[in-house]
Amino acid sequence: MDLFEYQGKQYFARFGIPVSAGGVADTVDEAVAAADASGYPVVVKAQVQVGGRGKAGGVKLAADAGEVRLHAGNILGLDIKGHVVHRLWVEHATDIAEEYYASFTLDRGAKAHLAMVSARGGVEIETVADEEPAAIARMHIDPAVGFSEALARQLVEEAALPAGACEGAVDILQKLYRCYDEGDADLVEINPLVLTKEGQVHALDAKVTLDDNAAFRHPEWAQFRDIDELDDRERLARSKGLQYVGLEGEVGIIANGAGLAMSTCDVVNQVGGRPANFLDIGGGANADVMANALEVINSDPDVRSIFINIFGGITRGEEVARGIVTALGRVSIGSPIVIRLDGTNAGEGREILRTVESDRLLSQPTMLEAARKAVALAEGSER
Ligand code: GDP
Ligand code: MN
Repeated sequence: MDLFEYQGKQYFARFGIPVSAGGVADTVDEAVAAADASGYPVVVKAQVQVGGRGKAGGVKLAADAGEVRLHAGNILGLDIKGHVVHRLWVEHATDIAEEYYASFTLDRGAKAHLAMVSARGGVEIETVADEEPAAIARMHIDPAVGFSEALARQLVEEAALPAGACEGAVDILQKLYRCYDEGDADLVEINPLVLTKEGQVHALDAKVTLDDNAAFRHPEWAQFRDIDELDDRERLARSKGLQYVGLEGEVGIIANGAGLAMSTCDVVNQVGGRPANFLDIGGGANADVMANALEVINSDPDVRSIFINIFGGITRGEEVARGIVTALGRVSIGSPIVIRLDGTNAGEGREILRTVESDRLLSQPTMLEAARKAVALAEGSER
């Protein structure tokens, strides 16, 4: 899960990383109120989950309430690389002396954490990384050993940060590592990490990606879940606890297991169709889950046919088939359905499906034949 800057800063603050005082705002009036509370001058910042906001006009300094009004009005609704701004973060502006870069992320290839620090942070960091990779100091961290103060100092020295920034940077790097490690993040990035004119080191931006696999031990992450970023279908799916991603096509997909759901999307593409979604209903393909899945797919106006692809494992074929039949009795479906049922007790399951088959509800023995049928139905069907 990616956090917005303001959420990332809340996360940083929990680990003692210094950030500026500020507030969120969804309207121009709220932006002025947040600015009044933070103290002028302020910086008005677009909250979208994409980099390069500064260059796109999404970060503006404001000296007084009039300027906050002007910038907030311009930034709200702005489209930054396909992300429309619905929310602002307004914080007390910092007097910047220098901009640095600091991050921790997972280097899967090296099977270790990777720390990066540069004295050349700011909006041009990508260019620096491309053209002068040596200007970014890198250090692999063995997760079993951890990141000591001595290692932090070594990294800051390699990055050649000026003497006046060293103590502050060493302190923040250690806190940032805790935020990454104990905080269960896959990425924490501060760009820019600034040295202020007063000589303080301070985080001016926050990019945090939390590791969804650790969500079970962080009930407090629920506050970060952003329903606004989702489209209507995804919001409905989320509310029903389904693993759903909306796509552009016409063939609605229901599969059990993420791997099978992905393969199902691939096969639909392979036979010339386009998946309308990715939907993994997980192991227990019972009537409730199936009815919820069908309801979500049914809510998508682009869907022209539905492909249910189930491989019976622990959940046996006849249970899956009964679940499908019950679900169909509960939800009225707008599109024809093709079912491929295989795996444990598939034969018994298909027997049950045979009792409800029609020209709008077909069973096919293989994934490929089912995909062909679903794509043909999508092409020939109107809703
Ligand atoms: P990004 O472009 O999406 O990475 O947004 P940032 O939050 O990194 O802001 C972009 C740039 O705006 C920074 O590199 C700073 O140069 C500038 N900026 C952000 N906050 C402040 C501030 O409080 N004071 C000043 N003077 N500049 C700021
Ligand atoms: Mn930034």
